[in-house]
Amino acid sequence: MNFIFLGPPGAGKGTHAKLLSQKHGIPQISTGDMLRENIKRATDLGKQAQVYIDQGELVPDDLVIQMVEERLAQPDCQKGYILDGFPRTVTQAEALSKFARIDKVIDLVADTSVILGNLSGRRVCGNCGATYHTRRLNGATTCAACGGKLIHRVDDQPETILHRLEVYHKKTEPLIEYYKKADLIMDVVVESTIDHDFMLIEKALGL
Ligand code: ADP
Ligand code: ZN
Repeated sequence: MNFIFLGPPGAGKGTHAKLLSQKHGIPQISTGDMLRENIKRATDLGKQAQVYIDQGELVPDDLVIQMVEERLAQPDCQKGYILDGFPRTVTQAEALSKFARIDKVIDLVADTSVILGNLSGRRVCGNCGATYHTRRLNGATTCAACGGKLIHRVDDQPETILHRLEVYHKKTEPLIEYYKKADLIMDVVVESTIDHDFMLIEKALGL
């Protein structure tokens, strides 16, 4: 099965996509993680993407589309995958429809207060990319999984967060209508614990 996780930044796409990936053994394709990995390795793509990411802008469609098309052609994606953070524009969705068949789209619906709380307290391992929240870290500054140093992403600073939300409303939200027309959307309101919200997602996906 091929799934898309849609929703504003900070709604928990990455958290739930990772849980689903681990439990059901299908890869999580996070374009944000892939782009950050490219920045770390200082590839051409990483160098081109960094300015956009740091400013809370979207990376140009053609760069991201090519990256995803190559990734989905890999053997591990042939039994299914979870797209986390892609598509983010109608242009990306139209391109995707040419090289993928999507079975379901989960739209994570969250209150702005939840989103702002999630993003401002988010800390990310600079080594393995695991994400944490200050409310559960108890002051820890290193990654429980690998010992790497936890960082506060440049694009998780307050002004950039607000800008990312604007970009989401303008460029990504129209995808809800796009996938509604295709009869693929399932809304899931995230408002409870991670376990509870995850259960709702599995139910929506029929898993
Ligand atoms: P979040 O989980 O907070 O939504 P991501 O890790 O998914 O953040 O994305 C971080 C940044 O990477 C985005 O703000 C954007 O600059 C870039 N990015 C990720 N996915 C895409 C995409 N599909 N199209 C364009 N830019 C993207
Ligand atoms: Zn780590």
